[in-house]
Amino acid sequence: MARRVIRLLGSQDENQDLELCAKFQAYSARYDVETGLLGFRAFQEATTGLLEFASTSQDQVALIWIDLLNLRREFTLAGWSGAEAMVGRVTKILREIAGPQAVVGRFNGRSFLLATLVSDCVEDGRRFAQLVADELMPPGRSVTPCAPEIAVGVAFSPADTLSAEELLRFGCLAASYAIQTRSSTVVAFQPNMNNLLIRDHEMEFELSKALEQCQLRVAYQPKIDLASGQLLGAEALIRWNHEKWGYIPPGDFIPIAERSGLIHRLFECVLRTALQDTRGWMSMGFNIPVIGVNASVANLRQKDFPFVVKRLLEELPIAPCELEIEVTESLLFEEEELFIERLHMLKQIGVRIAIDDFGTRYTGFDVLSRLPIDAMKIDKCFVRGIDRSPDMRALCLTVIAMARQLKMHTVAEGIEEVGELDVMQQIGCDAGQGFLFQKALPVDEFSAFMRTWPVFSSGFGFAGEDDLEVLGCALDATDSEMEEVEPLIESS
Ligand code: C2E
Ligand code: MG
Ligand code: MG
Repeated sequence: MARRVIRLLGSQDENQDLELCAKFQAYSARYDVETGLLGFRAFQEATTGLLEFASTSQDQVALIWIDLLNLRREFTLAGWSGAEAMVGRVTKILREIAGPQAVVGRFNGRSFLLATLVSDCVEDGRRFAQLVADELMPPGRSVTPCAPEIAVGVAFSPADTLSAEELLRFGCLAASYAIQTRSSTVVAFQPNMNNLLIRDHEMEFELSKALEQCQLRVAYQPKIDLASGQLLGAEALIRWNHEKWGYIPPGDFIPIAERSGLIHRLFECVLRTALQDTRGWMSMGFNIPVIGVNASVANLRQKDFPFVVKRLLEELPIAPCELEIEVTESLLFEEEELFIERLHMLKQIGVRIAIDDFGTRYTGFDVLSRLPIDAMKIDKCFVRGIDRSPDMRALCLTVIAMARQLKMHTVAEGIEEVGELDVMQQIGCDAGQGFLFQKALPVDEFSAFMRTWPVFSSGFGFAGEDDLEVLGCALDATDSEMEEVEPLIESS
């Protein structure tokens, strides 16, 4: 093995190279070759030394664990030099900030560790950790090339543990927790984090089993035309009833599916079921113009995601324009260029694309106008109590006007009350979903819903055929309201 290394070095003097090789091995066993910071083992040894020193004084040792979240992204966007620049920047800042009583190390490429003596007050240690975090990722900073995005955890000795090994593990746990909760501030270790992580592992295992054994179900929520009351389509929503834990909301297990990679199987499972059920409804004579399926950020990151959609559409054919992929707004915010490309690939297949939970993040008009989006789903937090909030009404009016300019269909999510429905109708929102009409139903119950809806919908006072003329007047009124907001959009 060593000889092979020597030949790769390509030198003439084998002994000298062997010596060089041994030196290099000894160095790389202790240090991170790229940055010169301590490697994991050496860092742990140095931390043990700090703990011994601290035991003779009243000091605490703070272990700050920093995970660099966007290193891989930087590499894919800017190549090796970009990633190297980012690592160099983090190393420089940590070296500058760490005083003589601190040690700095690097582990597994993306984790940076700093152990330092702080006064016996743990609060001081937390403040110091936050200071480190703010140096690396200044609050309210504008995004610049190679600006690090980090998650930071902190643990203390002797407050949390007396062992250096455990201190490192606890710091790592706290940082994992910061990642999971997307915390923008430093997370201090808590003993129950262990349990949360164990719960996550258990849930991942159970979810994988549920996918294998087809225990997951899909429920459908109707999407209603707010002018005519007609059924415009349905959204497929995943449902998991665990034999021991009972019903688990998607919000609890989708993040775990994303982290573990199970989200790809989950997406396929939901899309396959939704296509099968839609074909079943068609064969029963129901007209279900569009079926919506949610895609998560991790799905779109997958290179062959558009091909998965295409393959399933070929296997279980419905017209591509009858399928709508719902993508949350936060996605577009995070990795703009990648998603613009993916969405265009999807659009080429002919499927519709909806932007979900619109308003929860800021997506600029410029980005929106570059996206092939067919529908904009206004998040339920804007719809809630809109009949009692003139500000919210004005905001939704602006959003709808913007969507109209971009030729997007608008859908109000989470309509629960008649007052909310009234306002969304008045301000010209095209469609609505919500418990007021119907919650998500299993496939058979949704068939029954479709059967009864034409009669049931009359209770909401939608405009029937005869009322269309009157509705025309109402829409005119809406248009004049729209005119008021258009200049706002142009100036933004
Ligand atoms: P979403 O895509 O925005 O779906 C709408 C959520 O709002 C659903 O919650 C629905 O049950 C709920 N909802 C509908 N009407 C009302 C209402 O009037 N009031 C209130 N308070 N809620 C209403 P659910 O099923 O718990 O799903 C939550 C989120 O989980 C979804 O938000 C979506 O982001 C995600 N999700 C659900 N199924 C899937 C899936 O198959 N794949 C992926 N990637 N995500 C999914
Ligand atoms: Mg959705
Ligand atoms: Mg939504």
